[in-house]
Amino acid sequence: SIAVTGATGHLGRLVIADLLERGVAPAGIAAVVRDADKAADLAASGVEVRVADYDRPASFKNAFAAGDRVLLISGNEVGRRVPQHTAVVDAAAEAGVSLLAYTGVLGGPAADFVLADEHKATEEAVLASGLPYVFLRNGWYTEVYTANLPAVLEHGAVIGNAGDGRVASAARADYAAAAAAVLTGEGHENKAYDLSGDTAWSFPEYAATVAELSGREVAYHDVSAAERQEILVGVGVPADFAAVLVDVDRAIGEGLLAGTSGEMSRLIGRPTTPLRETVAVELRALG
Ligand code: NDP
Repeated sequence: SIAVTGATGHLGRLVIADLLERGVAPAGIAAVVRDADKAADLAASGVEVRVADYDRPASFKNAFAAGDRVLLISGNEVGRRVPQHTAVVDAAAEAGVSLLAYTGVLGGPAADFVLADEHKATEEAVLASGLPYVFLRNGWYTEVYTANLPAVLEHGAVIGNAGDGRVASAARADYAAAAAAVLTGEGHENKAYDLSGDTAWSFPEYAATVAELSGREVAYHDVSAAERQEILVGVGVPADFAAVLVDVDRAIGEGLLAGTSGEMSRLIGRPTTPLRETVAVELRALG
């Protein structure tokens, strides 16, 4: 089977949809989820549902079978992910899977920002397992930014501390397509792909795009790291995580998330989704 963890998340659902579109039989796909209720629709479509929780290593005992191709989608609890991911890697090695693909971070070992640390540690655990692997080193999802559109429109402002740094983001669906291409393709063993959008944009450009497509006044306000930290904490972001986000913008300012290797469009066989297309889709969804 092709087994996908985090299968009830945004990316996991898109990967499974893509696998089905590529003609993989539903019974040949295993959705590995912590909550079977959330996967009822997947089960109804014929996808096999296997229940396992990153926080309970023993629950992964029967999550994989020998020969499975596995996609480990990184968890969303920053700070807890190394033991969580290691549990999955150990279970994959124990089962004898034929391929372990992991959604890491753009730049891999060279990614010099705090949010990358757990990804680097996970890649090391994967290498130590001796399993055939693929590192899908994902850049930023455009949706990370468009998720804030309601606040951006309300205040007429995009706020950050990235200066004129650029982000080569792509739509989640692009990253999902890249994962599905690797899981169904051949010759990807022991490779690392730097996956990002074809075009890198700056926050002033992002604000201008939102302004143009919404017909509202929106501008980018660049603030200092300390001011950004204060703003994030002020809207309820825990201080530790706010510091991680401030550090991400510092890295963007240094160009660490601007790489346009073209590896994504080569893997998916089409250009990546442009920023303005995702902004347009998300604005329409807001009505
Ligand atoms: P989601 O938050 O939508 O999905 C995360 C998935 O991980 C969910 O299916 C969730 O399960 C599952 N999960 C979390 N904790 C556990 C656990 N203890 N045991 C089993 N499963 C667990 O994120 P996305 O799909 O949008 O993104 C996928 C991953 O990519 C994120 O988890 C994060 O690591 C990373 N990311 C990357 C970004 C980027 O811009 N490159 C931006 C944001 C995240 P459940 O459905 O039950 O909640």
